[in-house]
Amino acid sequence: MKCIYLDHSATTPVDPEVVTAMNPFFSMHYGNPSSMYSIAEISRDAIEQSRSTIASFINASPKEIYFTSGGTESDNQAIFTTAQKQKHKGMHIITSSIEHHAVLYAFQQLEKEGFDVTYLPVDSYGIVSPSSLQKAMRSDTTLVSIMHANNEVGTMQDILSLATIAHEKGALFHTDAVQAIGKVPVDVQLMNVDLLSSSAHKLYGPKGVGFLYAKKGTPFSSYLYGGGQENKKRPGTENVPGIVGFAKAIELAQNRSLDDHQHLQNLATFLTDGIQNLVSDVLFTGHPTQRTPGHVSVCFKYVEGESILLMLDSHGICVSSGSACTSGSLDASHVLLAMGIDSATAQGSIRLTMGRQNTMEDMKAVLNVLPEIIEKLRKMSPLC
Ligand SMILES: *Cc1c(COP(=O)(O)O)cnc(C)c1O
Repeated sequence: MKCIYLDHSATTPVDPEVVTAMNPFFSMHYGNPSSMYSIAEISRDAIEQSRSTIASFINASPKEIYFTSGGTESDNQAIFTTAQKQKHKGMHIITSSIEHHAVLYAFQQLEKEGFDVTYLPVDSYGIVSPSSLQKAMRSDTTLVSIMHANNEVGTMQDILSLATIAHEKGALFHTDAVQAIGKVPVDVQLMNVDLLSSSAHKLYGPKGVGFLYAKKGTPFSSYLYGGGQENKKRPGTENVPGIVGFAKAIELAQNRSLDDHQHLQNLATFLTDGIQNLVSDVLFTGHPTQRTPGHVSVCFKYVEGESILLMLDSHGICVSSGSACTSGSLDASHVLLAMGIDSATAQGSIRLTMGRQNTMEDMKAVLNVLPEIIEKLRKMSPLC
């Protein structure tokens, strides 16, 4: 069955051009970049070429890019190692209440280890207000980590304002930009960040590769023990095909950014208007304009998101629900709850995130079946 894939915030298909770029680095140019013979030099050069491509895309210097295994590792390395390295300065660290678990659980772990953590609230759109950060800053605050674009509701933060406030008090600023890179311009100088995380598989690159940007002079360190790769900041033989694929994906994003942006925007607007007109008792979540393109997140009252997801799946449509089914009980999303949405409404959330390959026909296919699905579920629902 043909699948209409509308879950690009979870992962994206690898672009065929990315696959082509990666291919030679499996069986032909397989040398270990740390070896001394000439085939190893090909791997080494490919990594450095990729590093330059990626660095210039975010307006960084190649020396400030460290390849990792993905967004989760980049977030963990940024947060744990800067918090530990600055312990002598203070043990107060700040994040927001809507972070991805790769950030949120890292802060919770540091809290268990004795750090004092402030989890900043958000407004009903999912925005962290600069004034709330200003109020939370203390003389012993060493690190602030606030995501650029939220994965569940698409809301984007004013990173420059937030980072400037952190810097005024002498704290470092990290941002998880996994959902932003490739969709909106990301410039580390304009955003004034010290650390930034990214992952290839969210922008048509392969899974299992990411990078951490760390501004020159930022006190961070290796999070693993081993070889001297990545300027002694990330041991382990480099994922050469992955790194090459990541750079190719970035190059494609750069070339197509305007086309992609407009296309995704059109699809999302069409879908949003359609849902609004065809289904009652819906609540669109996230900021109406300050959001990533192609991102629709919506709560359908009196139904459960997982049921909608499963029924859409039976029609060959892939979306995700905001609720996670843990040990048989549905837990509402921490993001929606932080935005002040009541837990019953939050249970009915689904997220549709469009990508390059999606068409208007795909949107029409969703609008063809979604109203019936909601009606059917509401008829069966004890909540009605
Ligand atoms: C997907 C995602 C991550 C994790 O990235 P991986 O490469 O899958 O480890 C982190 N943060 C955000 C916002 C994400 O969407």
